[in-house]
Amino acid sequence: MDLGKSSFEKIVNTLHDGLYFVDRQRTITYWNQSAERISGFCSAEVVGRACSDNILTHVDEHGTCLCLEGCPLAATMEDGILREATVYMHHKDGHRIPVSVRTSPLLDDFGQIIGGVELFTDVSNMAANDLRVKELEKLALLDNLTQLANRHYLERELTSKIDEYRRNALPFGILFMDIDHFKEFNDRYGHDIGDLVLQSVANTFVINSRPFDLYGRWGGEEFIGIVRNITSQVLEHIGNRMRLLVEHAYIAVEGKELKVTISMGATLFHDDDTIDSFLKRADTLLYESKKKGRNCLTFG
Ligand code: GH3
Ligand code: MG
Ligand code: MG
Repeated sequence: MDLGKSSFEKIVNTLHDGLYFVDRQRTITYWNQSAERISGFCSAEVVGRACSDNILTHVDEHGTCLCLEGCPLAATMEDGILREATVYMHHKDGHRIPVSVRTSPLLDDFGQIIGGVELFTDVSNMAANDLRVKELEKLALLDNLTQLANRHYLERELTSKIDEYRRNALPFGILFMDIDHFKEFNDRYGHDIGDLVLQSVANTFVINSRPFDLYGRWGGEEFIGIVRNITSQVLEHIGNRMRLLVEHAYIAVEGKELKVTISMGATLFHDDDTIDSFLKRADTLLYESKKKGRNCLTFG
């Protein structure tokens, strides 16, 4: 059966997954509606451009830019082998979104590889977060600028996690995070662009968090992540992954990629802690990261 172009479009536009095609030069030739929804880029913005050209710029969880080396789609176009991977895609608004990608080669009638197809599924925590935002808004526990939990809610949540810890000793920890040299960033690009970066950093936290963790805005350019059911290694791993995702996220303003980094203090709740001693230790560890040169995590 020969499907006409419009039937083909109808079918791929009912897909829940993002779908795009590239030619041998990795120029994007097709971009479906779900790809528009997940990435924030409409078809007209991406078709005809190379996927590495300030559009998707996939990175892996180590922050390695896959456009330069390790692109699953490029590898599939070389050897014809299907691949699956979880990568972090650049969203038009600036944050990084976790997507599960599947790549396959596009063949002509003679079996020659003439391009590649990538299907990608949004595996972020966004749907759960949308619900949480609505709840927090009702209770005035939402930070309006970033749409994260506000400080009041973080304090309530910390108190409740401490009670839970006293009852069942489930380990939990916090990531105390502060944007580096943010005053300088505001002075250079203006407060409004500064606000966009705060929103993009906040989105990266929420979208890449596990459903049972909570990220909120402590104040200004400071954020706290409350991370449950963990060991020290897992806390460090989660913290460093967030740090790398922020480092590799950017907002595009007048053709320039503007980015910030964050420093972190990471610590587990101890038996003899109070909420104050816990926060104080995290803050001191954050300060150590600043002293070490910023864009790093100190665990203690
Ligand atoms: P450090 O690396 O030591 O953290 O340096 P810093 O410049 O980030 O630290 P400092 O505490 O001196 O400055 C924090 C800046 O954050 C100053 C303030 O203008 C900016 N800031 C705080 N809240 C907001 C906000 O809501 N929007 C914007 N655009 N900027 C904010
Ligand atoms: Mg600060
Ligand atoms: Mg700062």
